[in-house]
Amino acid sequence: MSATKRVAVVGVGTMGSQAAWRLAARGAEVVGYDRFAPGHDRSAAGGDTRIFRSAHFEDSRYVPLLKHADTLWEELQRETGRELRRLTGCLLMGPTEHQQMATVLESIAEHGLDHEVLDTEALAKRFPQFRIEDGDAAVLDRHAGFIRPELTVLSAARRAEELGARIHRYTPVREIVPVANGVEIRTDTGTEHFDTAVVTVGPWVNDLLPDLPWEVDIRRLINAWYVPTADDWSGQERPAFIRTAPTHCYGLPSPDGVSVKLGLSRALHRPAGDPNRLERTVEPGELDIFTELLSRYMPGLHPDPIRLSVYMEGYTESSRPLVGPLPGHGNVVLLAGFSGHGFKLSPAMGDIAADLALDGASPRPIDFISTLDRAEA
Ligand SMILES: Cc1cc2nc3c(=O)[nH]c(=O)nc-3n(C[C@H](O)[C@H](O)[C@H](O)COP(=O)(O)OP(=O)(O)OC[C@H]3O[C@@H](n4cnc5c(N)ncnc54)[C@H](O)[C@@H]3O)c2cc1C
Repeated sequence: MSATKRVAVVGVGTMGSQAAWRLAARGAEVVGYDRFAPGHDRSAAGGDTRIFRSAHFEDSRYVPLLKHADTLWEELQRETGRELRRLTGCLLMGPTEHQQMATVLESIAEHGLDHEVLDTEALAKRFPQFRIEDGDAAVLDRHAGFIRPELTVLSAARRAEELGARIHRYTPVREIVPVANGVEIRTDTGTEHFDTAVVTVGPWVNDLLPDLPWEVDIRRLINAWYVPTADDWSGQERPAFIRTAPTHCYGLPSPDGVSVKLGLSRALHRPAGDPNRLERTVEPGELDIFTELLSRYMPGLHPDPIRLSVYMEGYTESSRPLVGPLPGHGNVVLLAGFSGHGFKLSPAMGDIAADLALDGASPRPIDFISTLDRAEA
């Protein structure tokens, strides 16, 4: 990089806080904007925990990106002195022949990941908190665990500020206007000029960029927290968990040891509607599926939730995020549509955003998530 580049980061949430950190670390002049303040829980981040996994069941092409993210998770923890992630393992359970089980085993074999395979008997003995079905197996991803989402966003944003970034809080960006020699960022208080803008507005992507040529479906996600009534949950091993089928769901024991959080898969999320008017009240009927899952697979959890929270996330048709320049506007770099699995990748995504904003290209293997030549509607 010759002259210092001025880069706007629009949306200082999960991806934007990491982008601001990586850009500031590389010497860019960074100005961030968020409609709220870093670390808030009114969007895709929140709810105390996110799963980190090394073995990706969606697509093994994520594994090199996860390895890069892993290095940066360590670096961010070192630089901030905060425990942002704890490796407690992640147990992927379900029918042996299920596609996601196969993809996990494929990515483990291809990349030599630290894991254990458990058959029905071993699973029942070692993890009595889960009721399992005949033919179920499990893969325990050992380099896995939980991330603290709010603390991570806040810490990455603060680290960016320590490195010189400026962050405008409670400052929604109204318009991004590509101009001949860069890009203008318009807010209610004025317009600023930048060389490049990184756009990471999560569930607001369609609002801010109404002409986006790809569909990002914004969904409303419920998390529910349940208290154990049985000793099964008091063991030493408290991994995050994912059940693949027949109903895909996931969960995490809460870091304070009091409860277990449960979440559902994409197909069970309702459309979010206007992200500025997210319906945060959970109707009793919406809990039926949670109750059913508890009685079938986790009977040691009391079926009355002690906490309910609602979030939003943008899904692409393929579930692969959109990462790269906007068509025809090389100096507007988009990161959107993380489809329910972006948090673990976020430091790597921030670094890739910095590559794209400062150098125009990234050395990371991102063809499969790139906006360039993206055919998907
Ligand atoms: C309930 C739930 C559970 C999940 N579980 C996991 C998991 O276990 N593991 C995992 O890896 N991933 C998980 N994910 C996915 C992950 O959390 C998301 O992929 C990730 O948080 C998306 O980050 P983002 O930066 O795109 O959006 P956000 O984090 O929402 O950030 C967008 C930011 O943009 C700001 N903004 C919006 N509009 C504007 C504007 N006009 N001007 C300025 N600022 C603006 C918002 O205030 C917000 O701060 C989960 C998601 C949800 C919702």
